[in-house]
Amino acid sequence: MTSLQIIKSWIESANDPQNSFPIQNLPFGIAQLPNGKQNCVCAIGDFIIDLAELELTGLISTQSQGTVFNQPALNDFMQCGPKAWQNVRTDLINLLKTNGNNALENNDKLKQQVLIAINDVKMLMPFKVAEYTDFYAGKQHAINVGTMFRGAENALPPNWLHIPIGYNGRASTVVVSGTPIIRPSGQTKAPDAEQPTFGPCKRLDIELEMGAVIGTPSKMGQPISVQQADDMIFGYVLLNDWSARDIQAWEYQPLGPFQAKAFATSISPWVITKAALEPFRTSTPKRDKPLLDYLKEPSPMSYDIELEISMQPDKSNTPTTISRTNYNNLYYSAAQQLAHHASSGCKMNTGDLLGSGTISGPDKSSFGSLLEISWGGKEPITLDGGQTRTFIQDGDTLTLSGYAQGDGYKIGFGECSGTILPAIKMNNPAGDD
Ligand code: CA
Repeated sequence: MTSLQIIKSWIESANDPQNSFPIQNLPFGIAQLPNGKQNCVCAIGDFIIDLAELELTGLISTQSQGTVFNQPALNDFMQCGPKAWQNVRTDLINLLKTNGNNALENNDKLKQQVLIAINDVKMLMPFKVAEYTDFYAGKQHAINVGTMFRGAENALPPNWLHIPIGYNGRASTVVVSGTPIIRPSGQTKAPDAEQPTFGPCKRLDIELEMGAVIGTPSKMGQPISVQQADDMIFGYVLLNDWSARDIQAWEYQPLGPFQAKAFATSISPWVITKAALEPFRTSTPKRDKPLLDYLKEPSPMSYDIELEISMQPDKSNTPTTISRTNYNNLYYSAAQQLAHHASSGCKMNTGDLLGSGTISGPDKSSFGSLLEISWGGKEPITLDGGQTRTFIQDGDTLTLSGYAQGDGYKIGFGECSGTILPAIKMNNPAGDD
């Protein structure tokens, strides 16, 4: 039996070890096609495949549902469940590998119909976000932020080593990579000021996270195991949880972040499937305290995924890498977060998005937010080209990227990027004419 690790595609660009989308990857997304349609697609090398057209030929099939790919969201396909996801992946691998099913390879007319240069399409939101929950599962990040906000003594809250802490965020402002982000305004209060003021955020930040995309739903009232939770996850995206630190510092007690996080969350357009990430599974870090049984993992459920952040000021041509870290730093896996989320009986739906929490490594070169990299704004960083930054300025572009390194290939996540536009002034804020 040929191992998936060494199979090649007849699409030559997919065999370049540096290409993000080898045959081992096959991520799913939504593209605006040259013919104007918005269809489900998958990426292979320098091409995308129009899955709606391919599905009509019968060469790919979920084997359980009707057509699921002729629409501008992956939700119907996601809802079909793990068997259908695997059926379509197997069909695609057979059609795209060398010496496989040559029904596509040998049909020039069909190739012309379904294979489109990746540079000729615009990637859109990959799925309709049902609800968005953001977790706080990076221990180094929690320690760093806790130290800055509450002092080293109280850095980790007493529940942190027992519960994957999270809050319910906003689905309405989750946007796809490339969407400009307007600087938020809000209420802030300097520690020595008597009164709060309202105005544009002065400490605008990023959070390097990954998003877990929920495929199959759970029932209200029914808790789920960690294994069941893992089975429900369709795949993963890069996620930037934009954060207004000055607004957050004033508003966050006692109910957690609100407007500081509600204005925007960016995700990458390609959903990387669990099947593609399977060879990169790894255990979560050693437990500081034993977990309660409902959170224990029956097998490794984290992943070895290299991640980085780059920053590029307006009118500069060079992005500067400001941090490199790895997904395996997270203390809780997405499966543990999902099991905890449903543990009360909370119903989870197709299209739910779970942010992992900021993924910081052990030192400054691997921190996942500017708050940590600049240590609360006290230690500016210098970008290539000489500009310095503590937090984000208008016109800056922040980009997350990531990949899992296989033997001779890599599973690329693509990019999650956003440029900051100036704040919009409220017209007539007092409401009197
Ligand atoms: Ca976050």
